[in-house]
Amino acid sequence: MIKKVQQLKIKTLVENMTLLEKAALCSGGDMWNTEPIERLDIPKIATSDGPHGLRKEQDEGSVVMRQSLPATCFPTAAALACSFDRELVHEVGRAIAAEASAADVSVVLGPGVNIKRNPLCGRNFEYFSEDPYLAGEMGAAEINGIQSMGVAASLKHYAVNNQETKRMVSNSCVDRRALHEIYLEPFRRAIKGSRPQVATVMTSYNLVNGEYAAESEYLMNKILREDWGFRGVCVSDWGGVCDRVRALKATLDLEMPGKTSATTKDIVDAVKTGEISEQQLNETATRLLTLVFDCEQNRQRVANVGYEKHHSLARVAAAGSAVLLKNEDNILPFAGTEPFAVIGHFAKQPRYQGTGSSRINPVHVDSVTDELDRLECNYIYAEGCNADGTTNDALIGEARQAAQKAGRAVVFIGLPESYESEGFDREHLNLPDGMLKLVDQVCAVCGNVAVALMLGAPVTLQFADRVKGIVCFYLGGEAAGSAAAAVITGKISPGGKLAETWPKKLGDVPSTPWFAQNRKNVQYREGLYVGYRYFDAADVEPLFAFGHGLSYSEFSYGEPRADAALLKDRNARLGLEVMVTNSGAVAASEVVQVYVAKSGERYKQLKDFQKVFLFPGESRALRFELSRWNFSDFNAEADEWQVQPGRYAIMVGSSSRDIRGEVEVEIAYRGAEPMPAYFPAADAGKLGDEEFYALLGYEPEEPPTTPFTLNSTLGELRRRFIGKVVWGAAEAQALDGGDYADESTKLMVERSLADTPLRAVCAMSRGALKKKQAKAVVRLANRQPLRAVLELLKSEK
Ligand code: BGC
Repeated sequence: MIKKVQQLKIKTLVENMTLLEKAALCSGGDMWNTEPIERLDIPKIATSDGPHGLRKEQDEGSVVMRQSLPATCFPTAAALACSFDRELVHEVGRAIAAEASAADVSVVLGPGVNIKRNPLCGRNFEYFSEDPYLAGEMGAAEINGIQSMGVAASLKHYAVNNQETKRMVSNSCVDRRALHEIYLEPFRRAIKGSRPQVATVMTSYNLVNGEYAAESEYLMNKILREDWGFRGVCVSDWGGVCDRVRALKATLDLEMPGKTSATTKDIVDAVKTGEISEQQLNETATRLLTLVFDCEQNRQRVANVGYEKHHSLARVAAAGSAVLLKNEDNILPFAGTEPFAVIGHFAKQPRYQGTGSSRINPVHVDSVTDELDRLECNYIYAEGCNADGTTNDALIGEARQAAQKAGRAVVFIGLPESYESEGFDREHLNLPDGMLKLVDQVCAVCGNVAVALMLGAPVTLQFADRVKGIVCFYLGGEAAGSAAAAVITGKISPGGKLAETWPKKLGDVPSTPWFAQNRKNVQYREGLYVGYRYFDAADVEPLFAFGHGLSYSEFSYGEPRADAALLKDRNARLGLEVMVTNSGAVAASEVVQVYVAKSGERYKQLKDFQKVFLFPGESRALRFELSRWNFSDFNAEADEWQVQPGRYAIMVGSSSRDIRGEVEVEIAYRGAEPMPAYFPAADAGKLGDEEFYALLGYEPEEPPTTPFTLNSTLGELRRRFIGKVVWGAAEAQALDGGDYADESTKLMVERSLADTPLRAVCAMSRGALKKKQAKAVVRLANRQPLRAVLELLKSEK
């Protein structure tokens, strides 16, 4: 009933709005808020980042990167996904939304469910997994948590945005099957799994197969809205709209930030010339007003944020996401009263979050050593290395001494802030030399060494065979330090499993030769073979497999039993049961994973999982239900998901490489067309031009860098004097004249400017660079001074 009344109200409002008002609604009122229309009592609503905490700018008028309001920094998505815990992620989403409500924020910009195509992506810490099922499930859980508090979520970045290099101008060239099965699937799953449905979807900066995601009728209207039934608002990434009219036609509702690139006039003109029908603009206005009034209506007044409670939740989440990668001779935990050495700068000042739009100003950061003090542990601390990973003889000397004296040591190392960030990608998988040297030196004097990792993505672990224990905390949020202390000392058994494969070396990842190259077309020549799908199918041994994670306890599995051996009815679900027992001595959790493969094939896919917490000796029967969807593939010729008849193996495991039981089922649905042939895993990343273009269905052409256009990047324009001038001005503004949040933010700005197109500088500069000035810059760069003057004389557009 209330819904009906609101629909009627919105209908009347849209009828009463002028063309200009409707067009104005289609872009933000400023950097973070939607446009209010006072005449009609249409309020503005506020958006803020996400995704692992609230980043609300203290000074909303400022450009992006100043200090934000204090908020709880939860574990980043890279960590949280390792929990494989839908309820936990739901709780985290709920807590973020409570903080958002208290800060009057209506839309939280997250979660991000992009696939980790390559471990070098600088923003992998903000994404969940290499696996579409896990990423989609985690995304849905976070959305449901956020939206359960009446706050809207924004599922991002749609789509195929898997690297930071040239992120605003790169073109992801990916074949249809991989597009659907790998890159779109986490979005589909998060949308289908969210109740109420996720309110907004944020488009990505990049192009997908030649079309900007924000202008793609195929991605937004056809796939998102028609095929998946998405009813909400499509919002652009900040500064991510190239042609507003094309974007609106493709059903991009909201351009952010707003009111700087004069696109309201573009929309008005397009309606007047008939390029956009007024009906389409009305539909967009209706969706936007629905979002605004839903948010207003669902708004919950949160007077007091329970920061302490949220901090405890952040700690539970960090421990539940910690992954014990290796534990020879049960070196961990360091229990008892015997001393142990704690080495490394990160034990005092943990690395717990990444840089960029997700950077939180935390309420309180725990350190490992403070918590060890609180627990009255008998430990010796040595710094061993600096925050940037460098070391010196004195630091090494102290570390050796501490390790030798205690007889057992845990060394905290990981990636320094400058190594990984939004805005640029890593160039290699190495840890800093100083940290490697530190581990070497500690191992030289002590036979009982464990390493604790704090980082956003996999690294190569040259010392993996020499240390007895390895535990990974990823970037575990503000309570990562105390959670790490609890795990190291055995107060909690680590509860995580890897949400991504750790390769032995970068060259083992098939996308590497095609990742973040110095060209705009990013060729996905590994196709479907991403993460463990590749390592399994091509039989390549990873350092640590997807789904791997040990525990302080042990779990035994009974034989899995399926309800049926033959499935004929397309709508029938297949029940699967397995008994799991904690056969060790410690209360702990286990993540039971279900994979499906065509019988006899190595290529398998995660289709379900459950996390159980069991006391020693306790058993639990777990039940899974698989649907038709779990057996389907995307048939690129038929352009739809289909189930191929045949025999399928359903595997139940403790990791993708530790399968504990298997059942076979025969699928006898009819109606599928034969699957078009797909290249074998052994050829992943190695397809020749002809083969790849045939698979793609077109030959991507690298766009020329000259003549310059509004889409030229500052890096390209810098070849001209005028480009250098614009660069300097943009850098000064982005760093707020020196008042930037911190050094890593500065580095991010410096490193990402080169890849920023001029049009985005217009959109993000809050009017400092007007469109006509940008056009004049382009003319000057193209050595057309007279035309530059004419551009400047034109009335603003
Ligand atoms: C990021 C988004 C973020 C937005 C607003 C963009 O640069 O890609 O993830 O939500 O900025 O801060």
